[in-house]
Amino acid sequence: MSEPRYAIIGAGPSGLSAARALQRAGIEVCGYETSRGVGGLWDIENPRSTMYESAHLISSRTTTEFTEFPMESTVDYPGHRALLRYFRDFADRFGLTELFRFNTRVTALTRADDGGWMLRADGPDGSVEERYDGVILANGTLAEPNIPAFRGDFTGELLHTSAYKQPSQLAGKRVLIIGAGNSGCDIAVDAVHHAASVEMSVRRGYYFVPRYLFGRPSDTLNQGRPLPARIKQFVDRRVLRAFTGDPVRFGFPKPDYRLYESHPIVNTLILNHLGQGDLAIRADVDRFDGRTVHFRDGSRGEYDLVLLATGYTLDYPFVAREALNWTGWSPKLFLNVFPPSFNGLYVMGMIEASGIGWQGRYEQAELIAEYLTALRDRPESAADFRRRVADEPWPDLTGGYRYLGLERMSYYVNKDAYRRAVRAAAAVLRGAEPQTGGRGIRPRRRTASQKASA
Ligand SMILES: Cc1cc2nc3c(=O)[nH]c(=O)nc-3n(C[C@H](O)[C@H](O)[C@H](O)COP(=O)(O)OP(=O)(O)OC[C@H]3O[C@@H](n4cnc5c(N)ncnc54)[C@H](O)[C@@H]3O)c2cc1C
Repeated sequence: MSEPRYAIIGAGPSGLSAARALQRAGIEVCGYETSRGVGGLWDIENPRSTMYESAHLISSRTTTEFTEFPMESTVDYPGHRALLRYFRDFADRFGLTELFRFNTRVTALTRADDGGWMLRADGPDGSVEERYDGVILANGTLAEPNIPAFRGDFTGELLHTSAYKQPSQLAGKRVLIIGAGNSGCDIAVDAVHHAASVEMSVRRGYYFVPRYLFGRPSDTLNQGRPLPARIKQFVDRRVLRAFTGDPVRFGFPKPDYRLYESHPIVNTLILNHLGQGDLAIRADVDRFDGRTVHFRDGSRGEYDLVLLATGYTLDYPFVAREALNWTGWSPKLFLNVFPPSFNGLYVMGMIEASGIGWQGRYEQAELIAEYLTALRDRPESAADFRRRVADEPWPDLTGGYRYLGLERMSYYVNKDAYRRAVRAAAAVLRGAEPQTGGRGIRPRRRTASQKASA
């Protein structure tokens, strides 16, 4: 019998993690990447990249890098070009680059008659079709813009952050940024140096975390045993108040949720610029009318450019939605990786979390490798794993935080809860229940949708 073959779609951090973990497990893979090389969205030349010239890491280097391949840099928050070099070095160091076909876009995945998957792709030599036993989807979560519907028409320039590359795009313009996520705030900081004026329309309040606290990258603090959610919220809220004050002073609404119930903004320059009067906060948009934007508080403003910092939507355009068990805004997958039908598709990188880093993504890949190894060498362990996923409650990945019911939070996880659950599942596959905390696949009650889809 021939060895099973697996495909990987995407050579970003997640696809590279998958290639490395499967390589270590002695599993043959073939990767497909639309772009010219590895690095995913960190390659600003990748046509699907949503990177911009001023972008740097938001999480700090040591909490983000792959454990087995520390960055050579000593910089705390390297820029995107340094990160692209890092991923190229990582791929070259472990012989991963040659596992991928570049300039090759996967266009369709369909079920083969024998239960495998037929993968169709367009590349330099035209269209190819190949059969695989399984496919790892690592095509990224931050590529497909989420464009909300607005009443009325804006006749100036309308741009999504995905199309923003450099501040010259804003030069001399009256700019309104809609949304204050991490990209929106980075771009606002760019804009104050180039635009004629900058305003930011927000729907809700935000928590702003400084890059440095007590002289260290803020995400390197409290890295040991995680505090219970309520205590962490209590303590960190006070620390933030002490360092950044109350953003309401600068015109932001008061957050109607607790700290960490939505993704925090790691940027305090924005507050400096608000304090200097370089930009101003506006209410939520009510409607557009020519170059005028009307806000919900009854005020209005005139703009040349509206920049939508409205985030991204998940997109797996090459495969039927049922195959990924889409439920609402996102696929409902065991540990955000395995469709409950265990149909041979595996999703990498479909996690949004504060501080999960590339190592967290690599641990997902190790779990997939563990499952594929069990399929090959210990089919009874793999079958037991599938049975437990079907029969037992799925782990609670929230860490006790009540995340906002927003599209971008629909696949959000708490990094500590998530990594613990991934390690526990891997232990089940190895036939070794974890030392700490008892059973492997467990906690809380399953939701109705999980029960329905299991
Ligand atoms: C400005 C910015 C700052 C960020 N900062 C951080 C940070 O500080 N820390 C952090 O952990 N994360 C950060 N991120 C999140 C970032 O998404 C991850 O770091 C990481 O890039 C995710 O890797 P990925 O491989 O899942 O996706 P991507 O990097 O998006 O890679 C996906 C790859 O799949 C390829 N692809 C897509 N469709 C196909 C197809 N049909 N066929 C073949 N190939 C395909 C794409 O070309 C791409 O190369 C940031 C993101 C942005 C935009």
